[in-house]
Amino acid sequence: MGQRPARGDLHPGHSRGVRKQDALAVSNRTGSSGGEGRPRELIRLNLPAHAKINLCLKILGRRPDGLHEIETVAQTVDLHDTLTFEARAEGITLEVDDPAVPSGPENLAFRAAAALPAPRSSPRGVHIRISKAIPAGTGLGGGSSDAAATLLGLRRLWRLDLADRDLEAVASTIGADVPFFLHGGTALLTGTGTTVKPLPDLGGYEILVVVPGVPLATREVYAGASASLTPALKISSMPAFKPTLKGDLREEVETWVRAGNDLEPFARSLCPAIGEIRVRLETAGAVAAAMTGSGSAVFGVFRNPAAIERALAEARASGFGAIRCVPLRREDYQRRVG
Ligand code: ATP
Repeated sequence: MGQRPARGDLHPGHSRGVRKQDALAVSNRTGSSGGEGRPRELIRLNLPAHAKINLCLKILGRRPDGLHEIETVAQTVDLHDTLTFEARAEGITLEVDDPAVPSGPENLAFRAAAALPAPRSSPRGVHIRISKAIPAGTGLGGGSSDAAATLLGLRRLWRLDLADRDLEAVASTIGADVPFFLHGGTALLTGTGTTVKPLPDLGGYEILVVVPGVPLATREVYAGASASLTPALKISSMPAFKPTLKGDLREEVETWVRAGNDLEPFARSLCPAIGEIRVRLETAGAVAAAMTGSGSAVFGVFRNPAAIERALAEARASGFGAIRCVPLRREDYQRRVG
């Protein structure tokens, strides 16, 4: 889920419970609208919440609050969860089809809904349904993406008068990856990951994501990977990773992936399959391979369709989960999610 700031309180106007008569009142009112010239009220909305991979990730230092300064190039892909938002008069409720993912206030989509300012008029509540396709705890950013989709969806459903930068401010209180998912595409993330600099879209490749089946906790991986770092004050003396964006853009993806992920060595100590999968992807014809985020998923970049198909079959034959995807350009991302 990326690094997460300390949890704040839920908005006092929001509760888990929703009264049946309130839900009915919403649909009755909506049913009678339109004929009297009033704009038809939005009562239901479906949005995809896409996964990301980190093409590379560098830890620059640890801050006094325990979060880490990083530099990473993130890329959205076509793999996605699906969220449905149904207007309710009051309250936030949530259901999710993956028993490994919390369905209460701990869910990042719930937290995102509760962090928004209370709507001035009805509907003030929502029922959120999440259909998961992004495996949790794999560094693919599923929870953060669900949270960002919730912010975008509820801004529309609740007709909130919130500018993009206000939404970004709310997003960064939920998790470090959440602001990125308001933009999508390819981006350089700095600070704790909340500062988003859009980069040109790079295409012409496919991605195979391989999931070892051992979810890793983001906090634990960051803590272990940075144990040898000097805290706080030395940040400025740490060598900074700079994405090049020079020369042949087609080659840029390989350059970034080969720059590596500083979290990978420690994640490998918790889940040795990460190293094994990476070698297998390279042997199968990936032009570069690395772990994404805090793991445990590993991705390979392929430019040859026959090679990715072979690698997919091999990964599945070895008992790993494997998902073939393509990078999602910012414009396409925003059309789907925005
Ligand atoms: P990142 O790449 O940002 O570090 P991740 O992919 O490793 O994230 P997530 O899949 O976002 O991690 O989820 C990590 C944990 O967050 C899960 O184990 C789960 O308990 C919790 N969680 C809360 N809300 C969600 C959600 N909507 N979807 C998935 N996990 C969620």
